[in-house]
Amino acid sequence: MKPPVITKIEVSSVEWEIEDCGPDGSGMVPTYNPGRRHPMSLLWTRLHTDAGVIGEYPLRVDISGMRDYLIGRNALAREEIWNDLKFVTNRQSAGIDILLWDIAGKLTDMSVSQLLGGYREKLPAYASTMNGGIAGIDGGLSTPESYAEFAQRCYEIGYRAFKIHPFPRPVIQDHVDTMLALGEAVGGRMDLMLDAFGYYPSFADALKVGRACDEAGFFWIEDPYFEGGASELGHARLREHLSTPLLQGETLIGLGSKMNLLISGATDFIRGQVHGEGITGTMKLAAAAEAVGADIEVHGSGPAQRHVMSAIGNSNYYEVVWVHPDTQCMQTTPDIYGDGYEDGLEAVDAEGMVDVPEGPGMGVEWDYDAIKRMTTGTKVVE
Ligand SMILES: [Mg+2]
Repeated sequence: MKPPVITKIEVSSVEWEIEDCGPDGSGMVPTYNPGRRHPMSLLWTRLHTDAGVIGEYPLRVDISGMRDYLIGRNALAREEIWNDLKFVTNRQSAGIDILLWDIAGKLTDMSVSQLLGGYREKLPAYASTMNGGIAGIDGGLSTPESYAEFAQRCYEIGYRAFKIHPFPRPVIQDHVDTMLALGEAVGGRMDLMLDAFGYYPSFADALKVGRACDEAGFFWIEDPYFEGGASELGHARLREHLSTPLLQGETLIGLGSKMNLLISGATDFIRGQVHGEGITGTMKLAAAAEAVGADIEVHGSGPAQRHVMSAIGNSNYYEVVWVHPDTQCMQTTPDIYGDGYEDGLEAVDAEGMVDVPEGPGMGVEWDYDAIKRMTTGTKVVE
């Protein structure tokens, strides 16, 4: 086959708002905040080739600055491009890699999952809550009881796993009470996870909440405390005191630094990021983790994550991210799909599973009209 050559990069800014969402008390993280609107954006990116095939995907980084490197290059040379860019512009290289996999799938009329050697067609999913709510605002996840009630509702929808992002509240006892309330409500029926995203300010706070997770039988604790999840020493020490496994690595980029976390005993599960290492790098990390008997958990929702996870045996759950009792308040991905694909609260079937898209490339149909309506500007380089 004559290799398809990259001819043009098109980047559109797409903007939308999440309703009933605004800053928490600290102003640091968006959370349930009735009447407020939280601005969101992504970069709808299309990589054209001289074969007429276009790689397209909503990205988080602008790759148009990579023009001098990309234009004229073989769009099937994913490994070469991944290696060229891995130390230079990591997140850009991840975005480029996703587009290249879409091109390869469309050229061969296979889904990315099939190209990767798809291991399964359905994925067990977890409901991953929005950040907890502000004390005193009803309807949000602002109390231990509200988390427990929402876990039960997710169980009834079909989910068999539930992960919380805690509320922005310094009272550690409230966090302890939340873990215990969840264990009481759904323990033994759902796998429970805590993603503190580095919220707890000290080792001691992480330890206190971690012990509550132990008592409630949690499945994992993710990024438990402030230092960003990179400290091998700190997390190895925390693991000495806890029985709940840790999941680390979301804040790091690069296979070496992630594997160091595993090998130094700082984590049990390792985080894979298609928007960090690309699809190519996530598959490499999965293989490296497999070689040391560890599982990789892929971060976030989207078609690319589904394809990657479908091709990995040592991975447990797909993340349906930012679900919330108020369904308005979780449009982290706008509705840009023309075929019913979705990642919201109701995305799972009665067994708590999501499907892997089956069409060529990323396997979904994009709603170009919706994308156009939300586009505020487009940049084209060729
Ligand atoms: Mg996380």
